[in-house]
Amino acid sequence: MAIRNIRMDDDEILRKKSKVVKEITPRTEELIDDMIDSVHEYNGVGLAAVQVGVLKRICIVTVEAPEPVENEDGELEEVNPLIHNNGEDLIIINPEIIPQEDCDVTDNEGCLSVPGKFGLVTRPFHITLKAFDRNLEPFELEAEGLLARAICHECDHMDGILYTDKVEGELHDVSELMPEEEEEEIDEEAIPEEEATEE
Ligand SMILES: [Zn+2]
Repeated sequence: MAIRNIRMDDDEILRKKSKVVKEITPRTEELIDDMIDSVHEYNGVGLAAVQVGVLKRICIVTVEAPEPVENEDGELEEVNPLIHNNGEDLIIINPEIIPQEDCDVTDNEGCLSVPGKFGLVTRPFHITLKAFDRNLEPFELEAEGLLARAICHECDHMDGILYTDKVEGELHDVSELMPEEEEEEIDEEAIPEEEATEE
């Protein structure tokens, strides 16, 4: 087991299509184990094989359960189990995503290959995932919210798509997330083009 280097967004491999996994070889096993170690080492929510330089349709998704919330009666409410896999490592091979219902959500997203940045992306709120596990046994999973978002993000990597291709508005710097910062609405269309150009 080892921590692998993450390919950054200027690396052309991230634009290539990953190949369908037809058999699990000892090398595939090692890749999966290394990806699990790596996603935790880098504190990621997910990692696709292409991000460690391997063009195989494999990804890991690991979403912790959010803190339970108090309802009106002061009782702690269970968090919807469809929105997390409780920090367990979900190994996804050869996935197919079927969006459910006609409900999309727009939320912030980041990527280990685009460090220090985040931006708004619209994704389906509820998906059905059909995929194969590390023994190439098929499984099906319902996912909503952050879990669905993470799965969609990782599966996009398999087709050479980065979230930055889908980002709505500007890509932001994580330093902008500082709590003391005041929210400011900037009408970008109001800025003349010459002034908006950067050198
Ligand atoms: Zn990513």
